[in-house]
Amino acid sequence: MVVAAEIHKHFGSLHALQGVSLEVEPGEVLCIIGPSGSGKSTLLRCINQLESVDGGAVWVDGELAGFRQEGDSLYALTDREVARQRLASGMVFQRFNLFAHMTVLANIIEGPVTVQKRPKAQMVAEAMTLLQRVGLADKRDAYPAELSGGQQQRIAIARALAMKPKLMLFDEPTSALDPELVGEVLAVMRDLAASGMTMIVVTHELGFAREVAGRVVFMDRGRIVEMGPPQQVLGSPREARTRDFIAAVL
Ligand code: ATP
Ligand code: MG
Repeated sequence: MVVAAEIHKHFGSLHALQGVSLEVEPGEVLCIIGPSGSGKSTLLRCINQLESVDGGAVWVDGELAGFRQEGDSLYALTDREVARQRLASGMVFQRFNLFAHMTVLANIIEGPVTVQKRPKAQMVAEAMTLLQRVGLADKRDAYPAELSGGQQQRIAIARALAMKPKLMLFDEPTSALDPELVGEVLAVMRDLAASGMTMIVVTHELGFAREVAGRVVFMDRGRIVEMGPPQQVLGSPREARTRDFIAAVL
């Protein structure tokens, strides 16, 4: 579903991604852990083309991100074509990013109706199904400010799912939440994983990673230091840097 091949990203003189390669199979859940500034968000942003890579390549669902191949030549895609490619992945951020002036229902149907031109009546029905799935059907007419952080994040997940992405990217979806609200968001993510969604999750919730991830990646200073099943990377890490990080997070 996702292939990143030796990707590099610079911000001025800062080399934020220094040759990162990974593959994520359809239906797999990959968790990414690592210290602040190690490049986790940048990696997600390169996968869904919020950032372009300076070297290497990314494929999502078999399509080379940002380029069209004709024979031996590569042509850069137009902004419009990139926007279409970006719809393959849904992203959920640390901050909920809901439209403050719109109700919950309007937030969920906005993208499908305006971007994907899907019929509004059908989208309302789909939105209600999604709201039931995240346990918030009774909040359809509420505004984001009337919801708790955990509820807002569950709506953000429903809103991303409404676009029917092939892949979901989560960037520390619970780290801005009060501790008592973390569980309800992780429960929604656990259900989503069980439904077969392909997911890449940047998180410091090691319990979630242990339970739900097929593999865990530990990043440090723009590189993947270690990657493997959770029992290995979290349970008996090979690298001292991974051990130190896990000890610090626990
Ligand atoms: P955190 O755990 O704090 O979210 P992270 O692992 O997600 O950290 P990134 O946000 O990917 O780290 O940042 C990697 C490096 O790139 C950091 O040094 C950061 O300051 C830098 N960086 C990220 N985005 C930009 C940008 N748009 N412009 C300049 N530097 C950036
Ligand atoms: Mg980050």
